[in-house]
Order: sequence, then structure tokens, then C-alpha cells
Amino acid sequence: MSFPYEAPVSQSLFDRASVVTPGGVNSPVRAFRAVGGTPRFMVSGTGPYLTDADGREYVDLVCSWGPMILGHSHPEVIAAVQEAVARGTSFGTPGAGEVELAEEIVARIAPVEQVRLVSSGTEATMSAIRLARGFTGRAKVVKFAGCYHGHVDALLAAAGSGVATFGLPDTPGVTGAQAGDTIVLPYNDIEAVRAAFAAHPGEIACVITEASPGNMGVVPPLPGFNQGLADLCSENGALYISDEVMTGFRVSKAGWYGIDGVRPDLMTFGKVMGGGFPAAAFGGRADVMAHLAPAGPVYQAGTLSGNPVATAAGVAQLRLLDDAAYEKVDAVSAEVRGLVTAALAKEGVAHRLQVAGNMFSVFFTDTEVTDYDAARAQESFRFTAFFHAMLAQGVYLPPSAFESWFVSTAHDAAAVERIAAALPAAARAAAEATA
Ligand code: PLP
Repeated sequence: MSFPYEAPVSQSLFDRASVVTPGGVNSPVRAFRAVGGTPRFMVSGTGPYLTDADGREYVDLVCSWGPMILGHSHPEVIAAVQEAVARGTSFGTPGAGEVELAEEIVARIAPVEQVRLVSSGTEATMSAIRLARGFTGRAKVVKFAGCYHGHVDALLAAAGSGVATFGLPDTPGVTGAQAGDTIVLPYNDIEAVRAAFAAHPGEIACVITEASPGNMGVVPPLPGFNQGLADLCSENGALYISDEVMTGFRVSKAGWYGIDGVRPDLMTFGKVMGGGFPAAAFGGRADVMAHLAPAGPVYQAGTLSGNPVATAAGVAQLRLLDDAAYEKVDAVSAEVRGLVTAALAKEGVAHRLQVAGNMFSVFFTDTEVTDYDAARAQESFRFTAFFHAMLAQGVYLPPSAFESWFVSTAHDAAAVERIAAALPAAARAAAEATA
């Protein structure tokens, strides 16, 4: 397809980046490969807006893939960061900020009795799985196709259906041995989980799931699914790990746990809790966490874990996230969803708008999406056309049909109005798109 708006400065940065960095980006989904065109190199963000290197402003519906729930450059978060930076950037010793951030997390999320801070969601899930294996003395891990838990070797087995079924590596570099203990099951299929426990008695260390998946687009758990997982784990001596890296502190004060109330043994967090800095965490039952070094034998560590600047940003952001903030994000989310679905319906575009709290995404299909196969069956080419039409009109969507959209407390009436103004042409582009 042709791209209606060119971005010469971004293009020249991308050309330079492509010489020194594989694919020109430091995280693949930023590269626009799924939608084509030039990735926008952003230079600043304020409230609901991002400005690119060509000086163009966009309403941001990515919010750094979730973290920026208060919008960009929130004055109180920036002030906390500046105050922390002025005191030094890393000490390699314990610090008060780590205690404060851990206390914030424990106070909000009842199943988290103890928490360990790390620097990325990937580290959180990797460490939680190691802990589950160390605690249970078992090797196997159950995960679901379409759920993403970071680029942990054992958890990348999930994509192609045959590859997924046999737990073979999805990516070169992950060996059969690393993926061989991973059992990949269809999402929302509790009978498949029951069958896996029956087929591998005493072998499954844990079931890890996104609390409500957002990495195949938004595909919430069917009623009873998460409870079913918790029950099966408890009946079979395995741990239930709820990955709340995306949903944690985003969909409610207590994340998805605050919505469905299903009690996991371990939970993982990232994104919002770092206030835009690299901070993440895993935590849960105190008796399980007690197995972690130096209290116990399962080793886990990090030079920059609990970094003072990151924890200052995280504490400041979490403290600003009161009930009123979530009401605001929920309301903006509902408003944008209503606008999107009305515009697409007006053009007769078959679509499903799926929602998990204030996270949502559009599937270009007319059937409900409850698993990865259904997500992949959508007409993604319509998303590509929709995406570029929105981009050309100054609205920045995730550059993939398989990602959640995010809004923030900073998305005010003016930002929503810009989205509304862009939607009719984008819906038309989606209607006219051909495969
Ligand atoms: N788990 C989930 C549910 C995620 O959405 C992500 C990232 O998108 C991760 C884990 C990995 O987090 P990170 O990118 O910080 O390593």
C-alpha cells in the first residue's frame, strides 16, 4: 500500500539505526513491519500527545505499551524523578525507594505478601518460573498460545500451531531442551489444562497465564477460566502464576486481580509500576517467596534491581493512581471504544471490539475472539489500512492488529475530539482495504 504521510527525519534516523541496530529498532514491534512504512522516532511526549522527529504531533493510543497511564511527562512523576536523580542514579545497596515501592504493591494486591523488584517484565516472569520450579521440584510449565510473557526462552513456544502443540522452539536460538518442558495449550480451554495435568501427574510446576491477555489483541478470560486454573493448580500441587505485567495497576488499583478476585500463588508486574522507567516485580505467597535467595536457595539477582530513579518514578505514579484516576481512564476508554465501533459500523466494517477493564482492541472479524486461532483469523489487512489512515491524521495506534490500545488520565476532550475526527476516514480505509 502507499503511505499517505512521509516522515523524512524519522526515515533518515531509521536508515542510520538500521546500520547499527538489527532491523533499526531495539524491540521488534516498534519497527512497523506488520503494517509497513516508516516507524516514527518520537522526541517528546506531553499528556496524551507524542511529537515525532519531523515535528508532528499524535494522540498517543499506545502509552509506551501501557506504562504511561497518567500521560506523558506528568509533572509530579517528573518532579519525583528529578529529585531522585539529583541524589544519584544507582548505589548497588538497598534504598528506601525499594521499600516504598514494595509496600505500595503489597498494600494494593492482597495475594502479594512479599515482592522482589527486577528491571523488566521478562525478568519477572523468568524469575517466577524458576522460583516455581525450585519450590515444587518439578520441571514442566503450562502456558497458553497467544499469551506473551516476555522473551523468556521457555515461554516463547507459542506461535505456529504444530510448533506450539509439540512445545518446539518458535525462534532459532531457543533449544528443544529449553522449550521441551513447556506445554502450550489453547487459551480459554480449561479441559485442555485438566488433560495436561492428567497426562503429566506430579510433573507440572506451574501454569502461567496473562491475567487477561492483551498480547494477541484483547482476549479476556471466559467466566470461570482463571478460577479453574487456580483450582486445578491447587488440586495438583502446582503454582498458579498470573502475569499482570500489562494489566497490573492499569485495569484497576489491584490490576486484573481487582476485577476477578482469583487468588494466584505468584504474580508478575511491570509497565505501570515503573512510571516509564525499567522497573518490574514478581511476588506472592510468603512461603513460596521465602525460597528466593538470600532467604532461600533459588538464586535471583540484579545490579539495577530497585534502581532509585525507577522506584521514585514508580512510587510517584502509583500514589497518583487513586479511584478517581481509574474512573477517568475507564471513562475515556469507553468513550474512545464507542467512537471506534460507531465509525466502523457506519462503514459496514465487520469488527469485534474486545475489552478488559480499560484495555481494548479491535479485531476485524465478526466472531467473538476467545483464543489465538480466532485472533489470527481476523482480516489484519483492514487494520493496516485503518492504522495508516489514523497515523496520517495524527493518531498513533499500536502498529499491529494483535496489541491492546491504551489510554491515560491525560486523554482529555481535545484528544478524544482529534480521535473522533480521524475515525471516519480510517473506517473508510478499512472498508475499502483489500487483502
Ligand atoms: N508479560 C506480559 C503480559 C507483557 O505484556 C510483557 C510485555 O509486553 C512482558 C511480560 C514482558 O515485559 P518486558 O517487555 O518489560 O520484558
